[in-house]
Amino acid sequence: TSQEVSQVRIDYHAALLALQEHGTRMVCTGKMHTDRICRFDYLCYCSEAEEFVFFHSNVSVMLPNLGPRRFQPALLDLSSVEDHNAQYFNFLELPAAALKFMPKPVFVPDVALILNRFNPDNLMHIFHDDLLPIFYTMQQYSDLNDEARLVFMEGWAEGPYFDLYRLLSSKQPLLKEHLKNFGKLMCFTKSYVGLSKMTTWYQYGFVQPQGPKANILVSGNEIRQFASTMKERLNVTQEHHAEDNEYIVVFSRSVNRLILNEPELILELAQEFRMKVVTVSLDEQTFASIVQVVSGASMLVSMHGAQLVTAMFLPRGATVVELFPYAVKPDQYTPYKTLASLPGMDLHYVAWRNHKEENTVAHPDRPWEQGGISHLDKDEQERILASQEVPRHLCCRNPEWLFRIYQDTRVDIPSLIQLLRENLKTRPVLRRNKPVSTVHPGRVREPKCQTSVQAANEAKLTVSWQMPWNLKYLKVREVKYEVWIQEQGENTYMPYILPHQNYTFSENIKPFTTYLVWVRCIFNKSLLGPFADVLLCRT
Ligand code: UDP
Repeated sequence: TSQEVSQVRIDYHAALLALQEHGTRMVCTGKMHTDRICRFDYLCYCSEAEEFVFFHSNVSVMLPNLGPRRFQPALLDLSSVEDHNAQYFNFLELPAAALKFMPKPVFVPDVALILNRFNPDNLMHIFHDDLLPIFYTMQQYSDLNDEARLVFMEGWAEGPYFDLYRLLSSKQPLLKEHLKNFGKLMCFTKSYVGLSKMTTWYQYGFVQPQGPKANILVSGNEIRQFASTMKERLNVTQEHHAEDNEYIVVFSRSVNRLILNEPELILELAQEFRMKVVTVSLDEQTFASIVQVVSGASMLVSMHGAQLVTAMFLPRGATVVELFPYAVKPDQYTPYKTLASLPGMDLHYVAWRNHKEENTVAHPDRPWEQGGISHLDKDEQERILASQEVPRHLCCRNPEWLFRIYQDTRVDIPSLIQLLRENLKTRPVLRRNKPVSTVHPGRVREPKCQTSVQAANEAKLTVSWQMPWNLKYLKVREVKYEVWIQEQGENTYMPYILPHQNYTFSENIKPFTTYLVWVRCIFNKSLLGPFADVLLCRT
């Protein structure tokens, strides 16, 4: 790799002079270590000390300049997993004058994105924690283009899916272990450190039990655009599937968490839906070929597990069927449900759970990380075996959780088919949906009120407005307006949904009273526009 890098020509002496004179420059975004990404000129890395180094000169810049708060607890998160203490980034400081006494630095000419992968052995983690955040961090900074150099500092080896990371840039990503090949001191000419968390939708349960993130900021649109770029780079062709050529995919695991009656399940699904059923498995085929199959499927059926992250490649309108082993409560483990349910993913999601203990095969004698419990006290083993549901727990080594989630399951097919029928009744799931519009209304224009007093206790309030400016360019199925009326000084208001651009209120309107009136537009029942400036209306 050092050979590869040295092929890109940089003026070594100019770079060394710049480092010696200017030192390191850092400018970051974000108020907190959890939302910070930093851009550096001449950030260096000392492979002997395994530390990044910031060289101070009298013109170096460090923004934010946190002083010792830089260590409370860290400057930033190197991975997209929030505030994980094994993923913190910081640097050592040295005066630029110290360079005279140090080994000659090797310069990396490419613009680098420096980060930690969170768990590159697991497909869900790979997509959710690494690939999507890298992809959108690169879109945030224009010099992180196709030529950018990804640098993975978590210290792991390539892992089984390194080819997926290679798709993000034309340059070979660097691992931490590669850095020592560059010599004792290497300096990144330009680099970004940290990852955007904007696209993550799940928290894994380090401080509270796992679940969807509290404030999800990504929609199906961004997930699908990422998925479609990945498809292109994997050379997956966009086939048009005819209505009569629909099929179901059973994503099987062949090592653990097995479906014990898979052939029977496949047969029954085929019969029920009058469709072809194909199986895929990460243990038996390439990732690209799986994406090819999934991206044309009407339904994806799988045990709970990382392979279900491939649901992001399903066409709109398809159904995800997630199967849960005995004693595992589906609504407590929802990374794939949350993905499928993101607005604009347009997927239908169904969770099935094995309720019959006789249909489960547990593995108490396996190693603990595969769900074995024989290392536990007899009492604890018996309690786990007698329990009918895993209680809520934190990540990641809860033995009862591991024991239950690594069970194999004989799927009770009638109950699964019944569940699917119930869900398909309410929605025509096996039809390809077109993306629905997400264009929000603008403000209503020229809001006005007129008032009149009819009698000592009778008054009228007429509110009128013009439609939002963007409506004339849109085809909207249903346009409605919402009006809120509040008597000045009160703390409640009356909301009204109205079909036209004016309305006269007479009920509950008192003479010689001031009302505050807000008006906004709503498209198709759920796309809310902003309120116009409040009207002050005196009867
Ligand atoms: N995996 C697989 N086949 C198996 C078991 C696991 O392909 O029989 C994959 C799985 O999809 C994931 C990785 O191996 O990418 C780790 O699986 P693990 O059971 O540890 O995690 P989980 O699927 O529960 O997230």
